[in-house]
Amino acid sequence: METLDRQALLSLLKRPPLRRLLEVFNDGTEETRIVGGAVRNALLGRPVTEVDCATTMLPEAIVERAKDAGFKAVPTGIEHGTITVIVAGEPYEITTLREDVETDGRHAVVHFGRDFVLDARRRDFTINALSLGLDGRLHDYTDGVSDLAARRVRFIGDPHTRIREDYLRIMRFFRFHAEYAQADPDPEGLAAAGAERQGLDILSKERIRHELLKLLVARRAQDTIGVLAEHGFLPWLLGGAAEFGRFSRVAASDAANPVPVWRLAALAVMVEEDSDRLRERLRLSNDEHRKLVAYARLLSLVKTWALPLDAASIRRLAADHDVAALDTVLTATAGEPFPIVHPGGREALERYRTGAEPVPVFPLRGGDLVDGGIPKGPRIGELLAQARQAWLAEGCRTDEVYAKDLLRRVLEQA
Ligand code: ATP
Ligand code: MG
Repeated sequence: METLDRQALLSLLKRPPLRRLLEVFNDGTEETRIVGGAVRNALLGRPVTEVDCATTMLPEAIVERAKDAGFKAVPTGIEHGTITVIVAGEPYEITTLREDVETDGRHAVVHFGRDFVLDARRRDFTINALSLGLDGRLHDYTDGVSDLAARRVRFIGDPHTRIREDYLRIMRFFRFHAEYAQADPDPEGLAAAGAERQGLDILSKERIRHELLKLLVARRAQDTIGVLAEHGFLPWLLGGAAEFGRFSRVAASDAANPVPVWRLAALAVMVEEDSDRLRERLRLSNDEHRKLVAYARLLSLVKTWALPLDAASIRRLAADHDVAALDTVLTATAGEPFPIVHPGGREALERYRTGAEPVPVFPLRGGDLVDGGIPKGPRIGELLAQARQAWLAEGCRTDEVYAKDLLRRVLEQA
């Protein structure tokens, strides 16, 4: 396991709050281990932010023991056996060992158990089923270590069976592949995912949303979206067409700080109606929907802009729209015949994007018109809207001389 970081794994156990937690929850009879993502990420030498534990103890006993030790216990998902225990301000999820009794493709009926092997086998991928004891022993019942060393995402057991138990595992297969794998997806997993994909339809939108948005910003999102496109998954997930080229350009340029909603826009928004459909399908928030709409409108504007986009056009677009949306649109469409962006336009956008230059703000307020003698009422809004159009057309100036002149013109006209 030369490609894995044993040292980082053991140093998990040296974190004082976690060590303290494990000491409290391990005695001669009860056993508690670190499981899942924390073990996986430590072995990969990646940052470990969330630590989940699995225990032989029952939920009520977890709460009781936490309290006796002076820890706060929050019954986060007590019916599933999960308690959040807070040690020195750090939250840890402790879950009673489980076995699946019944599955229907989206929910599982589980029994609490005392067997770490059965608990590992109900997990999805071999790399997600490792556990680490307080004594530093790494437990691997599913060959997860060799898959992790090879950076390979494989289902535990038969992929078809595992997917039919919970169709979300199709999404998770691609999400974990995108985040952790090195080569192509495991052929058996990929074939099973393809064959079972109609099962995605029975999942809740929230669960798909969660996995898809994570996939979009995973390290190898570009390759993986390519695989999804090639194998016909995208129409099932997005309910419409996808623009792989645009997604690729955005993913190649924002890798340092990827934002799921902008990557989604580049991939799946071509016209404004796409935003509405995606809001519905993926249960997007109002803010996310607003961003997709901004992207769609800017896309349509720049595609039909009569002249190459120079610094002045960019200034105007930035003043009137979301700058991050504008940035995404221009990155996504770079390499397409339109729009044409002048170097000056690019530089201007870069200044707005980084905050080196403030985005121009319309300088008049309703109060300015009232002070100028216009009675309060709907007329104010109309005049302001007209003035705003003039301001946009005249270069979005923000200096006081211009603002005074604009106000004078509005008042004269009223
Ligand atoms: P991340 O860093 O993305 O949170 P994670 O490994 O913690 O990675 P979670 O989605 O938080 O992933 O799930 C925690 C663990 O629970 C997984 O590592 C896996 O063992 C198990 N798990 C979660 N969802 C499923 C599922 N649908 N089917 C089987 N096992 C699952
Ligand atoms: Mg997690």
